[in-house]
Amino acid sequence: MLAKRIGIDLGTANVLVYVPKQGIVINEPSVVAVTDDNRVLAVGDEAKEMVGRTPDTITAYRPLRDGVIADYRVTEAMIRYFINKVSGSIRLSRPEIMISVPAGANSTEKRAVIDAAKQAGAREAYIIPEPVAAAIGADVPIDTAAGNLIVDIGGGTTEVAIISLGGIVAANSVRIGGNRLDQAIAEYIRKKYGLSIGDQTAESIKIEIGSAIKQDKEKSMEIKGRDMIAGLPKTINVSANEITEAIGNELDKIILAIKSVLEQAPPELSSDIIDRGMVMTGGGSLLRNLDKLFTKSLGIPCHVASDALLCVAKGTGIALENLDDYKKSALAR
Ligand code: ADP
Ligand code: MG
Repeated sequence: MLAKRIGIDLGTANVLVYVPKQGIVINEPSVVAVTDDNRVLAVGDEAKEMVGRTPDTITAYRPLRDGVIADYRVTEAMIRYFINKVSGSIRLSRPEIMISVPAGANSTEKRAVIDAAKQAGAREAYIIPEPVAAAIGADVPIDTAAGNLIVDIGGGTTEVAIISLGGIVAANSVRIGGNRLDQAIAEYIRKKYGLSIGDQTAESIKIEIGSAIKQDKEKSMEIKGRDMIAGLPKTINVSANEITEAIGNELDKIILAIKSVLEQAPPELSSDIIDRGMVMTGGGSLLRNLDKLFTKSLGIPCHVASDALLCVAKGTGIALENLDDYKKSALAR
């Protein structure tokens, strides 16, 4: 399997690799385990297993923070690892690579992504703004003159953009995503129950019972943590409506970010958006009833794209297959 063209969604939570005609071939957490003498020990699923369980000589961390490269060398190693996995030795196959970057990435950050891909062995590396890739992957017809509002909620960031004629007309990016919701849940439980829980526990509470609006028939869940006073393991029961309360403030901040983009939109495009509604992608958009909350708070119909977690990756691959059509939106180097 020597893939010649590879699309990569370099997310803060997950890295997805899309190969035209094959689809998504890799979907793993963006985690790298590094030894203290700087050797990359494990990447992806294997490295995530090590988080919080590693001896002092091994650091397992996420090289992307807030959607951009926080550690260049490790990011490059991660890209190389994933590409090798899909195309055998990258030095032999020298694929063309399309990588998504946040719409707000500055030129240094864009350069870093392109350089990392080239250093990793790409023959050509292109970048595409994440909201454009998300829209393409969600089947939103972005090349028409109508305005389309797209919101991608990832682990570290939320990207909001209005796209028309293949380009971004207005955009905003906030450093609030699924991770912040997890933190808000952990903090709520610490304050209310004096119970300390880990990030992964908070995330599973969010996914299993979390809801953006309060429900009449709510679920509940038993959770285990450490009692902060006694220092011993303790089990409590939390309800979905408590989680709604815990994450409310963070969701309000996302709503404000969307409103600020709507305010920047030219009037013609605003009226398109009122008619066509807003499309959400990214793992964060899967939070229960988030579409309902947004529809109510923004006054426009909100839809979650199908395969919301895969849209950006699909979009990078589709853009690479149709490079001539998307040259405008993708920046070639
Ligand atoms: P990134 O693009 O930053 O890698 P993703 O689009 O992969 O992020 O989304 C990851 C985020 O989505 C995580 O915070 C995760 O907890 C959240 N997530 C995934 N599935 C769900 C779900 N069913 N409900 C709520 N949040 C979810
Ligand atoms: Mg993403």
